[in-house]
Amino acid sequence: YPAYSKLLVLCTLSSGGLLAYSESGPDTGTAGVETDQKLPKKKRVLVLGTGWAGTSFLKDVDATLYDVQVVSPRNYFAFTPLLPSVTCGTVEARSIVEPIRKMVKKRRGEIQFWEAECVKIDAANKKVLCQSNIDNDLLQKGEFFLEYDYLIIALGAQVNTFNTPGVAENCHFLKEVEDAQKIRRSVIDCFETAVLPGLSEDERRRNLHFVIVGGGPTGIEFAAELHDFFEGDLVKLYPTVKDLVKITVIQSGDHILNMFDGRISSFAEQKFKRDGIEVQTGCRVVSVSDKEIKMKVKSKGEVSSMPHGLVVWSTGVGTRPVVRDLMEQIGQANRHVLATDEWLRVKGCEDAYAIGDCATIDQRKIRDDISSIFKAADKNNSGTLTLEEFRDVIDDIRVRYPQVDLYLQSKHMRDVTYLLKDDQGNDRKEVDIEGFKLSLSHVDSQMKSLPATAQVAAQQGAYLSRCFNRWQQCEENPEGPLRFSGSGHHQFLPFRYKHFGQFAPLGGEQAAAELPGDWVSVGHSTQWLWYSVYASKQVSWRTRFLVVSDWTRRFIFGRDSSRI
Ligand code: FAD
Repeated sequence: YPAYSKLLVLCTLSSGGLLAYSESGPDTGTAGVETDQKLPKKKRVLVLGTGWAGTSFLKDVDATLYDVQVVSPRNYFAFTPLLPSVTCGTVEARSIVEPIRKMVKKRRGEIQFWEAECVKIDAANKKVLCQSNIDNDLLQKGEFFLEYDYLIIALGAQVNTFNTPGVAENCHFLKEVEDAQKIRRSVIDCFETAVLPGLSEDERRRNLHFVIVGGGPTGIEFAAELHDFFEGDLVKLYPTVKDLVKITVIQSGDHILNMFDGRISSFAEQKFKRDGIEVQTGCRVVSVSDKEIKMKVKSKGEVSSMPHGLVVWSTGVGTRPVVRDLMEQIGQANRHVLATDEWLRVKGCEDAYAIGDCATIDQRKIRDDISSIFKAADKNNSGTLTLEEFRDVIDDIRVRYPQVDLYLQSKHMRDVTYLLKDDQGNDRKEVDIEGFKLSLSHVDSQMKSLPATAQVAAQQGAYLSRCFNRWQQCEENPEGPLRFSGSGHHQFLPFRYKHFGQFAPLGGEQAAAELPGDWVSVGHSTQWLWYSVYASKQVSWRTRFLVVSDWTRRFIFGRDSSRI
């Protein structure tokens, strides 16, 4: 689960997309209350989810071209990168959310929003069953169907407990705004309980032991926030127990922040050491009770336990049940995440697109495609290509598959060059396909799935809205750019992810950043960069103003420790 503090930049991709067109009308055979949808003149686009991916699509889609509807159990968009700041009151919850109705009102054309949960996607009949989460007698069961011509699945992911006993019942999560608010109240509860009369010192210690499971960006940022909250505010308010507070991070890997550059991991580890935050690496949690957490030290196999007052579980994400159900319907039951092609079309599901954390671009298909490109070029089935043919094939692959292109541009270009030259350094007349594919097999390790981050989700939403907006153009120019004509593949460029770097706030007004071009920056100045980037990436002037004023309030008055 590689998410996090990324520069949240909505990429301005210049790519378009040809969208599958279906004439077939929707079937209304499934039971339930049908909505009074009039026969649409425009194609119906149904968006599921109002997170990073969904709102990014909605922000850019031209709603005059489509009949756009949105379904989500939350009627707001939440700026998730600031959730850790909400857990300790650095930023207020309402400062990081924006009502979805307000966001879509600014768009050209009308977008309809339904506050409900999608409980089933009926892929065969192109309709979804929704259930309102509002408790009201008027709504009876609160179920209704929505039909679509195109479905945009942007349902995100849910927390993953890895079926560890006791986690669901005894741990806090940090995924939603409510989770952050709950943590804020529980932290104060722990302090208030610890100072009550009649408790032994061990009981006070247990109450003030905060355990974070998962050394990824979310867990680390929360640990840093908690430490700052304690050092900056709570130590003055609860002086009698100040020496009993302990923060522990449990990480199964060998280092925390292991998806970052090694320099950042070690800077974070050293900083945490100085701050007195204990980091236990190489440990896997085996169970959690209301008072104790048990873990196995991977190298020794020993199981040890420690008492806790509060555990925050931040180890990764899993698939939502509604997405899992769809995967079973469309023959993807053996996969972990919904697979799409590079144009973000769900494999095996007509007219459905999936973006953000709920989906991944299927890399296996890319490998198969590369093999068939070679096969098609090798007309005599000789296993070799002329240098010219080979270069054409490589050009084709590079344009179609950005991942391979990146790979070829970097380390392994030498392997490719080697294949093109003989021992004397002269150009070869023929190139051995298997030899090239062998060198390309390294690509497998490079072609990892895209990280589950807001940055990816937002870029995918923006890419897809551009594709939808260019629908008409695509119909008018079905041949697409000349380069692909006759290839029988796809007329437009696939989704290309552009990485803008990532941040890790480490507390004490210090942060680390990994920037494009292998740049690493750590310290106080990076924290100021973090402030500027996150202020600028707010989705509205209202939230920008609220977030900046929350930061200013915290500088002047400190954090609020009221338990409300
Ligand atoms: P989400 O944003 O999770 O949106 C899913 C949407 O689907 C929500 O609106 C939800 O209400 C809706 N939904 C859920 N179930 C249903 C249903 N059954 N029917 C209809 N709608 C439904 N990434 C970064 O790049 N930088 C960061 O700094 C960063 N920090 C993070 C900090 C935290 C604490 C967390 C939890 C994540 C962070 N991430 C960060 C990751 C980032 O938030 C996710 O990658 C991003 O939210 C994914 O966007 P999404 O649209 O796929 O899913």
